[in-house]
Amino acid sequence: MSCQGNIMLELTGKTAIITGASRGIGKAIALKFADLGANIAFLHFNDGEKAAETTAELEAKGIKVKCYDCNVADFEASKKVIDEIIAEFGEVHILVNNAGIVRDALMLSMKEADFDAVINVNLKGTFNMTKNIYQHFMKKRRGRIINIASIVGINGNAGQSNYASAKAGIIGMTKSVAKELGSRNVTVNAIAPGFIRTDMTDAMPEKAREAALASIPMKRAGEAEDIANTAAFLASDLASYITGEVIKVDGGMAI
Ligand code: NAP
Repeated sequence: MSCQGNIMLELTGKTAIITGASRGIGKAIALKFADLGANIAFLHFNDGEKAAETTAELEAKGIKVKCYDCNVADFEASKKVIDEIIAEFGEVHILVNNAGIVRDALMLSMKEADFDAVINVNLKGTFNMTKNIYQHFMKKRRGRIINIASIVGINGNAGQSNYASAKAGIIGMTKSVAKELGSRNVTVNAIAPGFIRTDMTDAMPEKAREAALASIPMKRAGEAEDIANTAAFLASDLASYITGEVIKVDGGMAI
């Protein structure tokens, strides 16, 4: 726990839902929130082994943890899981929409299914989770929504028209829902990571990785913890008057 003046960077007594938290950035956010005292309900979809490992790491921190196998692209499944989490944990205070996939290709060769898959998980998934927690936050008159976008949603990227469209959509959704929920004391913000070392970027071709690294003024890839630190700030009382904002965490990549 750390403190600035009398406002604390802590999440004790809070419950956070984090999507795609079995590994990568989502996992780093879950570990950081747990270190700050939050209980964690996290979603993943495919890799049960990774999810079990993450559950054990979180449990070791002495907080309440539950892992849910749920495809965020499925509206009914998202609704069911949010209802289950509210029944299990009581009030939910924070939603982090982090689950995301890539299916990169130039538009010339991009298959319709690759466009649809990325829009359905990244953008529709963010809608599904937000829509299904919306009334809970409205009724409680408090809540934090943190959407993981990307600098690609701001600047575009050749070979990622599907992903850039989804991430730009997330930024538009963030600002719109921030306007809708501001009067209910619910803040909605986005983080736009640059090039962060995770399974997603490890899977990139060597040449593309080198090009990305060369374009970063700070000359290094970011770590998942860099994003987790920003998410912790946005979830905390320190950020209570920030809404509709998009914070780039990219070592200067998108300057
Ligand atoms: P990652 O290592 O590939 O992890 C993705 C996570 O999402 C996993 O936990 C995965 O769980 C989960 N997931 C995938 N599809 C899902 C679905 N349909 N429903 C529920 N969960 C699902 O990715 P990452 O690099 O940490 O990226 C996390 C977020 O940051 C993404 O939104 C990504 O677009 C964004 N981002 C990343 C970077 C970067 O450089 N890494 C840069 C900008 C933005 P399962 O494997 O169990 O399905």
